Amino acid sequence: MSKSPYIPFNLPEIGEEEITAVVETMRSGWLTTGARTAAFETNFQAYTGAKYALALNSCTAALHVALVALGIGPGDEVITTPLTFCSTVHAIVHTGASPVLADVDDAGNLDPESVAARITPRTKALLPVHLAGLPCRMDELWELARRHRLFVVEDAAHAVGTHYRRHHLGAEGASQSDAVAYSFYATKNLTTGEGGMVTTNREELFLRMKCLALHGINRDAWNRYAEKGSWFYQVLEPGFKYNLSDLQSAIGLQQLRKIERFTERRRELAGRYQRAFSAIPELECPPEASEGRHAWHLYILRLRVDQLRIGRDAFLVELRERGIGISVHFIPVPLHPVYQDLGVSYPCPRAIAMYERMFSLPLYPAMTDEQVERVIFAVSEIVREHRVSVGAVVATAQASAAALASGQ
Ligand SMILES: *Cc1c(COP(=O)(O)O)cnc(C)c1O
Repeated sequence: MSKSPYIPFNLPEIGEEEITAVVETMRSGWLTTGARTAAFETNFQAYTGAKYALALNSCTAALHVALVALGIGPGDEVITTPLTFCSTVHAIVHTGASPVLADVDDAGNLDPESVAARITPRTKALLPVHLAGLPCRMDELWELARRHRLFVVEDAAHAVGTHYRRHHLGAEGASQSDAVAYSFYATKNLTTGEGGMVTTNREELFLRMKCLALHGINRDAWNRYAEKGSWFYQVLEPGFKYNLSDLQSAIGLQQLRKIERFTERRRELAGRYQRAFSAIPELECPPEASEGRHAWHLYILRLRVDQLRIGRDAFLVELRERGIGISVHFIPVPLHPVYQDLGVSYPCPRAIAMYERMFSLPLYPAMTDEQVERVIFAVSEIVREHRVSVGAVVATAQASAAALASGQ
């Protein structure tokens, strides 16, 4: 339909700085976890205000190692959201614990009331996900955790740059969570290609995660090297291989310098979408952060399907035909066959209903104003072509009135 070039759903923001940093690392003679990873951890810790930061090779690894280090395992239950990526649930499954799903609130985040209803004597932790970068209702979740003596591990895969109240997630003195897990996957707000980070304010938890993340060895190769060739180390437990390489940390260090600029651009673009779509009654805009700062990792728009003659799936086909990349975040956990087999099929009617009418539009710092306008134009046009028109509503009403009058 459109002759304009395709607008991809997502593009990473990689500059010459990242490229130079990787080349320098390759020439340095040290590729794996070393000085650059240590610097990335220090800078990330300073950025978020958390006491400790541990760089890992994914958010999935960060969630898993945090749960294991907290002692969560077989017989335990961990409550999480149905509107998340599968790996949130897998991190729980791989500890041997059982994932339990609670339903979402209107914002698409874990609903504290639904969480409260799913707490049992076996519940050990809450695993909220800050969907799209919108902070969860942490005060209410922390209150539940305090009352029931539960750990809190946050999935902040979308939430580098998110503020809850006036602080970054996991900030010392403001956060009551045990650990916060970030993703630096290729599509995320800050990327190292693949990568992750876990922050905590608890020293013993940090040391346990650090040990578990590198085979359960008490000192990593970089520390031994820095101590000028000491070869001795001990394996304390069967750990994992979750460390981040210096090649990736070199990218992360550069991305971190730009993250506030990226976030500002995301907020600006999301603001354009919000202004345009809030004027269209057939569309329901994503909520703004009422307490804190939305990192706008995703722009999730919802259709008022009762006011349209077109469903979500057909709407997405039309967007694709107009050259707009789209995605859906997320297919709710209970709809995947594997979790039905695992018995993870808690009723989540609000998540399912939201899923059926939502989709994500392109949103990334490299998008031009012109591209955003094209997306807005395409969405508006599809709505216009498929709205249940006033005329149609009147005709339907007249027809039913006539049917009533004629006794049918
Ligand atoms: C991307 C994502 C993850 C997984 O992150 P990785 O770094 O790829 O392991 C986990 N949870 C959510 C909500 C995500 O979007």
